Amino acid sequence: MSERIALADLRAHRATIGADIDRRMAEVVAHGRWINGPEVAEFERAAEHYVGGDVAAVACGNGTDALVLAFQALGLTSGQAVLCPSFTFVATAEAVVACGAVPVFVDVGLDDFNLCPDSVRTAYKAATEEQLDVVGMCAVDLFGAPAKLDQLGELAEELGCWLVSDAAQSFGAEAGGHRVGRLAAVTTTSFFPAKPLGCYGDGGMVLSLDHDLASVVRSLGSHGKGGHKYENVRIGQNSRLDSLQAAVLLVKLDLLDWELAQRRRVADRYSQGLAGAVGTPEVLAGNRSAWAQYTITTDGRDRLQQHLNDQGIDTAIYYPRPLHRQPAYTHFELSSVDLSRTDHLTNRVLSLPMHPYLADDQIDRVIEAVQTGLD
Ligand SMILES: *Cc1c(COP(=O)(O)O)cnc(C)c1O
Repeated sequence: MSERIALADLRAHRATIGADIDRRMAEVVAHGRWINGPEVAEFERAAEHYVGGDVAAVACGNGTDALVLAFQALGLTSGQAVLCPSFTFVATAEAVVACGAVPVFVDVGLDDFNLCPDSVRTAYKAATEEQLDVVGMCAVDLFGAPAKLDQLGELAEELGCWLVSDAAQSFGAEAGGHRVGRLAAVTTTSFFPAKPLGCYGDGGMVLSLDHDLASVVRSLGSHGKGGHKYENVRIGQNSRLDSLQAAVLLVKLDLLDWELAQRRRVADRYSQGLAGAVGTPEVLAGNRSAWAQYTITTDGRDRLQQHLNDQGIDTAIYYPRPLHRQPAYTHFELSSVDLSRTDHLTNRVLSLPMHPYLADDQIDRVIEAVQTGLD
């Protein structure tokens, strides 16, 4: 029996850059400035440079905090409502609720699995009819593919809402020649180890084209501080990226473009080998996915997953239950909003092994196993 093929390999990068990471971590150990060490600002500037344009980056504790800080900086408060997908990781809606607001679940498109602009419009109308005060929308770049942020941004403006882009899965992705981080006025991301740019623990970031908003985010993540540490001008929280994680990220950021190219190699090979057999993920024209996941759709999903497991191939279902069917979130569902595409996808999606270090023969083994599993 050949070796199992894992969904991800979070250690493989160490063969090439492990020594560099260890050296940078040793520097942190030597200077001992665990919190707010020079690596944090250095990483923020490196992320700004990577994203390009005139974006301001503020590092924080994790991707969930990044959402909460962005929402709070935009003024989200109790009694308000935010449009967001139900087909996402729970943190998207959780951050809305953490601000005292309510999520309004919106259906996604079958093309990119992301917020569908037409559905946003219908859901906005339905929510307004239910007397909800919709002030914003939060788009998610599911599996690494940018949502239709141009269209959603225009729609947000028309509806008088702000737009936050939850790019926890898509740092490094592009649309129309621009990198994620400047595709919306406010973008949040996560450096959780399994994300395309992952650290050795928790980490997150808010990126904004609005530098005043970025300074409010910075203050909120630092106990609402004002001009100096012991002046508190707003109610904040403690959410920081620590120096050791910044040191890891500085080295990993240098490798990101190469890793993303490798993820594209894996995705292209899967798509060639699986076209026609199952639904393969679409990347919209002019976009580049960060390929956090390679997710196929098929009717006999559960049987196929069992077959792949028997063949020594790990897979995952992201997400087995949409948020409007989660016990803690069902009461937010509006009966007048159709979420049938979300339910349809939930029953059919299957994520295959995806990471930059998958060898071509491993990819071919997965392709063959999927094909024999469908027979
Ligand atoms: C991972 C993730 C988050 C949360 O990030 P953490 O760093 O784990 O808090 C938020 N939204 C989406 C879509 C995610 O995938």
